[in-house]
Amino acid sequence: MRLLITGAAGFLGSHLTERFINEGHNVVGMDNLITGNMDNLAHLMGHKHFEFIKHDVSQYIYVAGPVDAVLHFASPASPNDYLEYPIPTLKVGSLGTHNTLGLAKDKGARYLLASTSEVYGDPKVNPQPETYWGHVNPIGPRGVYDEAKRFAEAMTMAYHRYHGLDTRIVRIFNTYGPRMRLHDGRVVPNFINQALLGEPLTVYKDGSQTRSFQYYSDLVEGVYRLLFSDECLPVNIGNPSEMTILNFAHAVVELARSDSEILFIQPEDERIKDDPKQRRPDIEKAKRLLGWEPVVELADGLSKTIEYFRSRI
Ligand code: UDP
Repeated sequence: MRLLITGAAGFLGSHLTERFINEGHNVVGMDNLITGNMDNLAHLMGHKHFEFIKHDVSQYIYVAGPVDAVLHFASPASPNDYLEYPIPTLKVGSLGTHNTLGLAKDKGARYLLASTSEVYGDPKVNPQPETYWGHVNPIGPRGVYDEAKRFAEAMTMAYHRYHGLDTRIVRIFNTYGPRMRLHDGRVVPNFINQALLGEPLTVYKDGSQTRSFQYYSDLVEGVYRLLFSDECLPVNIGNPSEMTILNFAHAVVELARSDSEILFIQPEDERIKDDPKQRRPDIEKAKRLLGWEPVVELADGLSKTIEYFRSRI
């Protein structure tokens, strides 16, 4: 197959690119590099099954030759990035989705949208099944991401229903691992960076908010299986082992063998406005349809991620 992967220079995009190349496919990677980094693709440059196009997918996309699948993974993905790039975030989720769908239709390609647990907003239902419609503030600082992804799902389903396009939607829950940006502002890089530098870990509010962290390789496996499945409705891919952010901070300190303390802070900017109080995927659908479930334990995945960050600091 020849695939177009948008956001290929990002954390997940680069890991997916590598997986498809390792399976013998050809990948055209596309990225405008506002949050992506070519270092993530350095080892693939010059590979006979890989080509890279620097392009902003919210502008018209041109790709020469056949394309069998389009995977739309381009987007800023950290709450800090949404604050810094609110309009590019909205544009890549809306115009970028429209353009990539248009390309898939033109090429007769299968299409896979990277959606997010953020479509559930600050959920009133825990864990979140795919049937939950969510609880999103459209005008809050996170709304630029959440609403763009909700629009992206609606657009993908419209192309499926109206044009008969062969589509997939993955709702990705918090994912971590090597190639995350050290300073993207999310909890995993923040805590690891702080623990390695011996600085206090900045736990926002009282740390009782929960998240469920999955290692990138589990996500890549789930996306791979979903692409080759027949399911056109959204599928959650995440690790259901839910923990408080305070417990997560303790886990990072322990695994990094750090003597950092915990510092409870109330960020004064908009970083934590509408911060979901709880998040945990219901993965029954992925188990049933894809035979998929996460296999990497937090301690193993975190240790590898800590080593990656240690080598970068
Ligand atoms: N968080 C924190 N300290 C930090 C960064 C984040 O306590 O230095 C909390 C944040 O308030 C949220 C959780 O960690 O409850 C996960 O935040 P992240 O930015 O990683 O992503 P989100 O899951 O909110 O999209």
